[in-house]
Amino acid sequence: MIDLHVHLLGHRDREATAEHIRSFLEQARRQKLKVIGFADHDMYWDSLDFDLIRATAAEFPDITVKVGLEVDYREEAEQGIRERLRAYPFDYVIGSVHQIGGWFFDFPDEELNHRQKDADTVYREYFRLVEKAAVSGMFHIIGHLDIIKIFNLRSVTDVSTLARPALDAIKRNGLAVEINTNGRYKPVNEFYPQAALIELARDLGIDFTFGSDAHEAKVVGRDIPEAAALLKSHGIQEVVAFSAGAKVRFALDDV
Ligand code: ZN
Ligand code: FE
Ligand code: FE
Ligand code: ZN
Repeated sequence: MIDLHVHLLGHRDREATAEHIRSFLEQARRQKLKVIGFADHDMYWDSLDFDLIRATAAEFPDITVKVGLEVDYREEAEQGIRERLRAYPFDYVIGSVHQIGGWFFDFPDEELNHRQKDADTVYREYFRLVEKAAVSGMFHIIGHLDIIKIFNLRSVTDVSTLARPALDAIKRNGLAVEINTNGRYKPVNEFYPQAALIELARDLGIDFTFGSDAHEAKVVGRDIPEAAALLKSHGIQEVVAFSAGAKVRFALDDV
């Protein structure tokens, strides 16, 4: 199994120590992960220690450990993000949209704000930003593709129609889409993305990968076997991980 979306620091709940890295890798081993990728939030840049992850990984020769980053995509901050990404040779970078014009729409107390807005408008604006992130050329993976559904408020217009331009851009630019199992533990109670978007991505020939979005060691690898079974049920036969920015392909039957 593969899990490329793991937050060692959580929301700065702990420090980047060898002891914490080990506890994440021990859970990866228990979950029989072949590949684990750390992808902390870019906003904690000053607390991250990529070299310590690589050094500690040497104690776990049975697991492939990758170093990534989850970037909070903001269109007005592209230049700064670009410069920051030049500072370290990441295996991959996840581009995630968490805010629309400064509105952090996925915070737990934002449901009322969602309810007061027009869902189609919000979905359109969200997917416009995902499309821009894909076109930016900075990212290898789009994080939690349809996180805008987090409170289970759905658009009136078919979500496939609204997401289509973003998925076209993802395909054109060679990004992968993760099956992010953490959506099951949010009010919407289902993986990101929903089945209709998995099928559309599949039909467009987009590659898939997996992420638990673990913010603590015990969540590493959570529900990834189920995510793999879900992809297989949609006729998908391989997934990708990344090494030094290049895709590495795995047959789903092997992971
Ligand atoms: Zn987080
Ligand atoms: Fe995220
Ligand atoms: Fe995350
Ligand atoms: Zn995330």
